[in-house]
Amino acid sequence: MSGSPPLVMRLVSSAYSVAEKAGAIVRKVLHSGELGIVEKTGANDLQTLADRLAQQSICASLSRRFPKITIIGEEELPSEEVREDLIENGQAEEILQKSCPAEFSELKEEEFVVWVDPLDGTKEYTEGLLDNVTVLIGIAYGGRAIAGVINQPFYNYQVGAGAHLGRTLWGMPGLGAFGFQLREVPGDRRIVTTTRSHSNKLVTDCVDAMEPHEVIRVGGAGNKIIQLVEGKASAYVFASPGCKKWDTCAPEAILHAVGGKLTDMHGNAYRYDANVKHMNSAGVLATLRNHEYYVSRVPHSVLQALKSD
Ligand code: AMP
Ligand code: MG
Ligand code: MG
Repeated sequence: MSGSPPLVMRLVSSAYSVAEKAGAIVRKVLHSGELGIVEKTGANDLQTLADRLAQQSICASLSRRFPKITIIGEEELPSEEVREDLIENGQAEEILQKSCPAEFSELKEEEFVVWVDPLDGTKEYTEGLLDNVTVLIGIAYGGRAIAGVINQPFYNYQVGAGAHLGRTLWGMPGLGAFGFQLREVPGDRRIVTTTRSHSNKLVTDCVDAMEPHEVIRVGGAGNKIIQLVEGKASAYVFASPGCKKWDTCAPEAILHAVGGKLTDMHGNAYRYDANVKHMNSAGVLATLRNHEYYVSRVPHSVLQALKSD
């Protein structure tokens, strides 16, 4: 073999290292005790120093190595020189050694769009619900989510001293998903996971319409997708605007890599081109299996209220 691995594999392998660095920043800010909380649109829409530093780290590190890609981050930050200690140059060797799916082997750098949620579950982060927190780096091409990296900075934090803190999951449709053990909810139990801090009547009506055996209310889009692929929930149901493209791009890629699906409440796919609207206005419905069942249960009132783009 000669030559360097295909661009997409180099990008994913950098994103993996960059997500780990961002996770370390998120831990460090928490331990410093100075969260620097700012309200964006209100008390349930927060930004902390960790969101700001992690985004600077991710965007500056990736754009240094891949200057032609488009990177869209959640946080609006003043454009200023990023501190050198925030830059990550590493690449995950394990990813560079995987063989790239043929359909992705010759992609052009300038057509990549990377969606960055530097800290998903900020509200929960400020409340100490640390396992809800993730760092999301979604990689899109031709409007589709083609790879995703999720770092969970506080994974294992309840296990206590000695346990390795944090983990990174990643996946690519056509290649597979790594960093976790794929599991399905046992039997035919319908366990619905949904928001804990952004609920409303549409959200609860829609959850009820799924006739769940159990409902889990937790923070974070990344966290809820991890529940789906680890067999803790069968469907992520959020019948409301609120989630944005940076919340769903990385999770969608990982879910697709293991045969799952993420759509709006009508069952229509979202697109991740650089010029799309950021808001996922028609809600989020994600499943590992039986997507059609959940789509078929969505109440008419929800379909009326949430139009597909
Ligand atoms: P949740 O399930 O409530 O943790 O939401 C998943 C993601 O969508 C998080 O990044 C939230 O910040 C975002 N989100 C959902 N609903 C809203 C909302 N009403 N306002 C702001 N962000 C929201
Ligand atoms: Mg988020
Ligand atoms: Mg965020």
